Amino acid sequence: MSQSVVITGGSRGIGAATAILFARKGYQVVITYNESFESANLLTRSLSARGLSAVAMKANVANRSEMELVFKETAYRFGSVDVLINNAGISMIDTITRLDPIDADRIFDIDLKGVYYCCRAVTPYMVSQKSGRIINISSMWGQVGASCEVAYSAAKAGVIGLTKALAKELAPSGITVNAIAPGLIETGMNAELSVEDLNRFVEDIPLGRMGSPEEIAAAALFLSGEDAEYITGQVLGINGGYVV
Ligand code: NAP
Repeated sequence: MSQSVVITGGSRGIGAATAILFARKGYQVVITYNESFESANLLTRSLSARGLSAVAMKANVANRSEMELVFKETAYRFGSVDVLINNAGISMIDTITRLDPIDADRIFDIDLKGVYYCCRAVTPYMVSQKSGRIINISSMWGQVGASCEVAYSAAKAGVIGLTKALAKELAPSGITVNAIAPGLIETGMNAELSVEDLNRFVEDIPLGRMGSPEEIAAAALFLSGEDAEYITGQVLGINGGYVV
């Protein structure tokens, strides 16, 4: 049977591009979503119409029991959980004093605790299989910090720490854990930025453009494949040279 992949936040942006690529490569794809019922279901229906395997499950990554059910259901349907891509995330831009602590908590709950809950929930399945790939989507801001994104940067830095620690813990079980740290990627997450701000940002990117969701998906596919068997605990920066 072909391998299964769970992609959190697969309804839009990087997660949706990743779902399309993995489905095209023959994976049994499970995407989760929180709010975007329509786009999640449109995506899985269009993949299924092409004879590819994709299902959508509503589950909030910040809710531990909802995520536990996702892995239980995936293992039941497909016999194993082979790849987990922790992609779901939110960002908010404001100064540390202006950002409401309730919003900062939401960022920590979704961007860091959500990754922790999913890793914790998938581990028993992967350990019993003695194989598995976990790919955590961090951010270049987790590597170098962004002004006016303190909570987001801290959460994404936490994801990097989690990745390194879990890579060591799970390596004896044949499981690899890596992170991808994207730079500025063309998705709805940056819709808040004005065209002027985006243009100024792009001027500082050595490769002179934003990245595409498909470029992040391609890296996730590589880290899930046989050629990446000896790679674990690493952070792959995909940022057009902005952070080197
Ligand atoms: P996006 O287009 O805004 O999509 C975010 C995805 O996360 C959506 O599918 C959304 O699903 C899901 N999501 C949000 N909260 C959730 C929750 N509580 N439970 C489950 N799913 C939830 O963002 P994106 O750019 O594709 O971002 C994907 C990942 O890449 C994020 O972790 C982000 O931090 C990271 N990243 C993005 C960039 C960038 O420039 N775009 C750069 C660095 C890192 P619903 O709509 O259903 O809620």
